[in-house]
Amino acid sequence: MTRTDTTATPTTDSYQPTEAFAQQLDDRDPLAIYREKFLCPRGSDGERVVYFAGNSLGLQPEKAREYVLQEIDDWRTLAVNAHLGGRTPWFSYHEIFSESGARLVGAKPGAGEVVFMNSLSVNIHLMLVTFYQPTQTRYKIMMERPAFPSDLYAVTTHMRTRGIDPKDGLLQLAPREGEHTLRIEDIETALDEQGDEIALVMFGCPNFYTGQVFDIPRITAAAKNKGCSVGFDLAHGAGNIAPQLHDWDVDFAVWCSYKYLNSGPGAVGGCFVHERHGKNLDLPRYAGWWGDDPQGRFQMHLQRPFVAQSGADGWQISNPPILAMAALRASLEMFDEVGIDALRAKSKQLTGYLRFLIERTGSDSYEIITPADPEAQGCQLSILVHDKPQQRFQALLDAGVICDFREPNVIRVAPTPFYNTFHEAWRFAQVLTG
Ligand SMILES: *Cc1c(COP(=O)(O)O)cnc(C)c1O
Repeated sequence: MTRTDTTATPTTDSYQPTEAFAQQLDDRDPLAIYREKFLCPRGSDGERVVYFAGNSLGLQPEKAREYVLQEIDDWRTLAVNAHLGGRTPWFSYHEIFSESGARLVGAKPGAGEVVFMNSLSVNIHLMLVTFYQPTQTRYKIMMERPAFPSDLYAVTTHMRTRGIDPKDGLLQLAPREGEHTLRIEDIETALDEQGDEIALVMFGCPNFYTGQVFDIPRITAAAKNKGCSVGFDLAHGAGNIAPQLHDWDVDFAVWCSYKYLNSGPGAVGGCFVHERHGKNLDLPRYAGWWGDDPQGRFQMHLQRPFVAQSGADGWQISNPPILAMAALRASLEMFDEVGIDALRAKSKQLTGYLRFLIERTGSDSYEIITPADPEAQGCQLSILVHDKPQQRFQALLDAGVICDFREPNVIRVAPTPFYNTFHEAWRFAQVLTG
C-alpha cells in the first residue's frame, strides 16, 4: 500500500482567495492524478460539471465497468462453475473486501471484524436484533436529532416489536437553543444522567444534515461507562473520516457504499462487529446460510442447527450480489492504493479552503453550520442560507455545480479528496458569494 506525502500543502492561515492560489494548491496536490480515474457527467457545453454530491452518490471509478463485465462474462462462460472456478470465485467473493474494509474503518487486521453485505438500512436492522437487548429498566435508545429517517424507522420498529412505546423509549438529543450542532459535553451529561435506562446509543457520523463529525471515542467511552451498547451509522463516514473502531471499542457500525465509497447506486453496504462480539457465536441474530460455517454450508442433508461462523461474516444471510460487489471491488482497490489517511489529509485542506472562501466575505446571508474544528468536519459543509436560498441554489445549478438542497434552506456541498479540486471549491464560492 502506498501512502502519499501531503506535508507540502500550505496551512489554513496562508490561504488566499485568488484563482491563482486555488490553482497552485491543485498543482501541489499529490492526489490530483486520481481525478481522471473517475467518470464524471458533463454539462451541455461538454465541460465536466463541478460534482459536489459525493455525499449522495459517488462518481464511477473507471475500473467499475471492467470488473462488472468480468462477472457478466464468467456467468456466461462458466455459469454455476464460477462459484468456485471463476476468476474471482463467487463462493468467497465477499472475503476479498474484509481487509480493505478493515483499513477504512480502523478495524483490527485479520480479525474478521468487517463484512460487506445487504444494504445499509437492512444492516441496521440486523445489528439491532443483536445489540438492542432491552430489559425492564434499561430499554431506551439514544440518537441525535435530526437522525436520518431510515435509522429512526429501524430503531422505533425494534422498540415496537419488543413491546416498547417509542414515545418512552426513543431519546433524541437536540442541539441547544440557537445552536445547530451537539456539544460533546451535553452528550456526556445526558449519558451520565440517563445512561442507566439506555440500552443502546446509536449516532449517525457525520450527521447527514449538519455534517458534524461526532467524537466517537468520547461518546463510546461515556456510553460504556454506563453499561450501554454503542453503534454508529457511518453512511457519511465510510471513505470520508478515518475512525479507529476497534481501538475505540465501538460495538458495531454500519454504512453504505454508494456515497463516499463510490460503488454505485444500491451498492452493497458494510458492517463492523467488534471482535469480542464476533467470537461470541451465541449472540442472537437473524440467521441465514451465508452466515453459517462455510465448511458445513453444503451439508444440507444433515439438517443440523445453524452454527454461526465467527466474525462479522457470521451476520450474513444470503449469498451476495456479485454484480454489485464487482463495482465495490473497483472502488476499494483505489482506497487501498491511496490509503484513507492521505485522503483525509487532503479532505481537511479542501474542505478548509472552501470554508475559508465562504466565510471570508463576512456576509450574514448564509452561515456554515458544520463545526469549524477540522476533526469535527469531514467532506461536507452544510450551509444555512438566510437570504434567497432557492435562488442561490439555482445559480449554482446554472453554473454547472451539482450539490444538494435540504428543506427548508440548507445547501449541502461535499468536496471529495478523490476527484474534486481546489479550483472547483473556488468556483463554487464565486457563485455562492457573488
Ligand atoms: C444514506 C443514508 C441511509 C440510506 O439507507 P439505505 O438503506 O442505503 O437506502 C441511511 N441512513 C443514513 C444516516 C444515511 O445517510
